[in-house]
Amino acid sequence: MSPFEEVKSKVVAAVRQLTHDGYLSTTGGNLSVRVPGQNALAITPSNFDYLKMTPADICVLQFDLNPLEEPHKPSVESAMHAAIYQARGDVNAVIHTHQVYPSTLAIINAPIPALFDEQVRFLGRSVEIIPYAPSGTPMLKNNIARHVKNHHNAFMMANHGALLLGHNLERAMHNVALLEKCALAYLLSLCAEKKASKVPLWVREVAFAKLRKDQQKVERGDFETGGE
Ligand code: 13P
Ligand code: ZN
Repeated sequence: MSPFEEVKSKVVAAVRQLTHDGYLSTTGGNLSVRVPGQNALAITPSNFDYLKMTPADICVLQFDLNPLEEPHKPSVESAMHAAIYQARGDVNAVIHTHQVYPSTLAIINAPIPALFDEQVRFLGRSVEIIPYAPSGTPMLKNNIARHVKNHHNAFMMANHGALLLGHNLERAMHNVALLEKCALAYLLSLCAEKKASKVPLWVREVAFAKLRKDQQKVERGDFETGGE
């Protein structure tokens, strides 16, 4: 039995749930978790049907992409996932989706301002758009590694999709759903051709300070990470 069995099973359960919920479909997107105590990640294989995926199909790679277990070709975005774990000690799960509403805002270059306090509390001060680079390229990885330093947990990738981070897998999955709701609400407000109002600046700053406090606790190791 693989020493990574537990972490690989979590990856499979998450992709099944996200597929069931409509956030992942066919083979678009990818998902990883940090392997506890190691400079390594467990990640979905490339171009592999989520509903057919089992724990035996999940790849485990060191952050330099050296394989520890490689039953299939790992996701083309493996370097992007590894770069995020290296840049953000508070992040233990990374989900990249092609979910519809953030993808729509990403093609009309409409970053989401601070619309709701729960948005800022879990996703960050705003949801920025990361400039376009083709899938799976070092240019995309570098763009992402630069942007995630702002401590936000949600991003939209121009002409591509969305990126959600979490201190554990459960939180990263919640962030997928929260981003979808914020993106849909903002898109509808743009369609209504009315000015979208924002939460007061002080509310935004208080909510973001709570998120930063959580992140600092995770980095110090005194926050429940849910095993990832
Ligand atoms: P993979 O199937 O290689 O993970 O690629 C899917 C994707 O979304 C690329 O950005
Ligand atoms: Zn993609």
